[in-house]
Amino acid sequence: MVGPAAHRTGRARSLHAMSVGTSALFAFDNSFVRDLPELYRPWQAEPASAPSLLALNDDLARERGADPDALRTPEGVAALIGVSVPEGAEPIAQAYAGHQFGNYSPRLGDGRALLLGEIVDVHGRRRDLHLKGSGRTPFARGGDGKAAVGPMLRELVIGEAMHALGIPTTRALAVVATGDHVVRDTVLPGAVLARVAASHLRVGTFQWTAANAGPDVLRRLADHAIARHHPAAATATDPYVAFYDSVVTAQAELVARWMMVGFVHGVMNTDNTTISGESIDFGPCAFIDRFDPATVFSSIDHGGRYGYGNQPTVLQWNLARLAESMLTLFDDDTDRAVAAATEVLQAYPARFRQAWTTGMAAKLGLGDLRPDDRELVDDMLRLMHDQRIDHTQWYRALAGVLRGDTTTARSLAADPAAIDAWLDRWHHRATDQAVGPVEVAAAMDRVNPLYIPRNHVVEAALTAATAGDLAPVTELVDVLRHPFDERPGLERYTMPAPDGSGPYVTFCGT
Ligand code: AMP
Ligand code: MG
Repeated sequence: MVGPAAHRTGRARSLHAMSVGTSALFAFDNSFVRDLPELYRPWQAEPASAPSLLALNDDLARERGADPDALRTPEGVAALIGVSVPEGAEPIAQAYAGHQFGNYSPRLGDGRALLLGEIVDVHGRRRDLHLKGSGRTPFARGGDGKAAVGPMLRELVIGEAMHALGIPTTRALAVVATGDHVVRDTVLPGAVLARVAASHLRVGTFQWTAANAGPDVLRRLADHAIARHHPAAATATDPYVAFYDSVVTAQAELVARWMMVGFVHGVMNTDNTTISGESIDFGPCAFIDRFDPATVFSSIDHGGRYGYGNQPTVLQWNLARLAESMLTLFDDDTDRAVAAATEVLQAYPARFRQAWTTGMAAKLGLGDLRPDDRELVDDMLRLMHDQRIDHTQWYRALAGVLRGDTTTARSLAADPAAIDAWLDRWHHRATDQAVGPVEVAAAMDRVNPLYIPRNHVVEAALTAATAGDLAPVTELVDVLRHPFDERPGLERYTMPAPDGSGPYVTFCGT
């Protein structure tokens, strides 16, 4: 059961008794709990036998108005994983549904996660503080409610990389080892992730609400989401259509940014598609090395549904599911509601293309777009694929061409001579601008990362951390926090996996 009555259970009351009574670690203000009691169950994190802090994001803590030193104390660590409820927190498991690989699951929800509460940060932004791996909840189905050290540190690594790349993302505030074991293919050390997000509203939240909670709750959910994420929609002629339009735009821009850094999310189910436009859930995600639109990393994605090149299309499919769940808000008349949704959705390809083309122009050092540029870009992508060119190294090497080094760019192609004509074309175009080549190259370096989370490097760091050595993860995160600034001694972070290492495979069962 999900509903207001859950507030009155003994379990909910007991939460207060367990609150950390000393000075508040965070100033919570829990709007979701207030606004949407039908969409959660109050719940409590499971105890951990020997909690120890593996990573704390000091800057993110300070941004939350929290004192990192207080979070490092045993009381702080216990609060970070919800085993003692920090003052003002109201931990809940949220309900949601979702299409997973195209199939509808009517009841997903936080199976191993809890929303501790919301904090208005030092910039005045409301942010969720959320736990993952904190034990079974009423939504756990067959799951054990747990998470392992490796995958939770992966959330830290990828979240920090995305943030530094300028891509909207959820981020890890802390990763805490529980001292308990988690059984997967092998026995692994357990961990809890404390995650910060603009919210945990998903397409799947709307799907669950439309299917289970009735029109009034759906409207309240939409109003809550508008106030939180897309406030301009509130004053539009048709606020709910305007809200939908804003989500479509935010998500189109997000996936365009993913494409430009070679990110493959790997599990773009509707429960992993946010209303805020942030990236969420870094389970089977990975970054491409050689440019190939068909790249799939996830071991369970047999059809390539969530492959690199499919992401913009599958996102549109997810956004259509969001429209379906909101039709009753768009118009009382179903035909008119469908027409309104269709009009927004039909604008999606152009929105995506706009975001993508603008981004690609910046990557290629083209200040203003000209009619021929699209062909230049399309021809480049074809060449990158044919010539097995490393996606990340390529754009930095192009900036090098403007500084007089053509050798590096050519060396990235299987057959260097095959890219000469294109390089000439691009060079001609990039140097035919008001700003000189040195400035253009510098601008390119500000948008084209040198350091991304290379799959083999991430994997090695997580393996070391699982065995107890955190140094490689710490160093990797430091490198990824400044992805555009070349620093000596970090060459290995710029390299693709060595030849012969075989295809990289990621797993969902984290
Ligand atoms: P994810 O793949 O992490 O996005 O999770 C999809 C759904 O499965 C969500 O409802 C999760 O809460 C649930 N889930 C994933 N792993 C577990 C687990 N170990 N125990 C309970 N629920 C889980
Ligand atoms: Mg998820």
